[in-house]
Amino acid sequence: MTAKIIDGKQIAADMRAELKQEVAGLKKQGIVPGLGVILVGDDPASQSYVTAKERDCEEIGIYSDDNRLPDSISRKELMALVEKMNDDPKINGILVQLPLPRGFDESEVLFAINPAKDVDGFHPVNVGRMVIGEKAFLPCTPHGVVKLLIRSGVTIEGANVVVVGRSNLVGKPLANMLVQKKPNANATVTICHTRTKDLAAHTKRADIIVAAAGRPNTVTAEMVKEGAVVIDVGVNRLEDATKKKGYRLVGDVDFEAVKEKASLITPVPGGVGPMTRTMLLYNTIESAKIAAGLEIE
Ligand code: NAP
Repeated sequence: MTAKIIDGKQIAADMRAELKQEVAGLKKQGIVPGLGVILVGDDPASQSYVTAKERDCEEIGIYSDDNRLPDSISRKELMALVEKMNDDPKINGILVQLPLPRGFDESEVLFAINPAKDVDGFHPVNVGRMVIGEKAFLPCTPHGVVKLLIRSGVTIEGANVVVVGRSNLVGKPLANMLVQKKPNANATVTICHTRTKDLAAHTKRADIIVAAAGRPNTVTAEMVKEGAVVIDVGVNRLEDATKKKGYRLVGDVDFEAVKEKASLITPVPGGVGPMTRTMLLYNTIESAKIAAGLEIE
């Protein structure tokens, strides 16, 4: 079997087009969703992520309040900015770009964000709400994975899902979302990590494999059941002298070999990545709707 490639770029573009329409509708009711962005320091990767997120906001009509601060800013000043955004009615979502420069306590900063504006879904209040199945801002990457599965017509209910990776950012929240007693969930989920005894024994039984390990070739063809759905969250740089930048991006899955066995597979790049950015916009719009007392999904 040769897998159908899940085009994350296209699915994300479709979602963004829908969100743009939704924002246009909200504007007619006088509601303009707003995202407050905080970037500390001059890390080039963080700068380009933030620029891309702001471009996304502009594309779909979300107001963005851009704050690029030198790493000489004090803890007090940074916390004061978060507080200011917490109180600003024009801001519905607050994004603190990670990692913060050395010396800052990331948890302290993230936990200072009002949970009602925590569009990254990192605040313990939102994590807790997610775990007990209450409405919550869901973290963007795992939420993007769930949306990719749904929009690709994959049945999650009853599926054996193996999530490779147990980070707070991806693996744990994803497993939590998939195991909920809710539509588009109800899966039987196994979480694997570096202490898992026989990773292949687990993945071979999986109807859906999500690789979020951060290591190339963590999932190879022998580890995949014929017809499985394979979602690759990993983003790894491999040296490649033939490329202008000197490297190429690969996921955690041996894509070329696994695509001959899977029924559906995401590429890297162009799979999960574009969905992550889109889910931030989605959460910001949801937050604006909640603030305006409107119904949400
Ligand atoms: P992380 O914090 O480093 O966690 C990696 C997890 O994978 C850990 O739980 C680790 O186990 C497990 N692991 C590593 N190697 C393994 C192996 N050989 N077998 C089984 N488990 C293994 O990484 P993360 O933040 O979750 O990110 C994972 C990957 O996704 C990275 O490549 C990251 O760049 C990418 N990512 C992509 C997006 C996107 O938008 N596309 C967003 C976020 C992250 P232990 O807990 O035992 O160490």
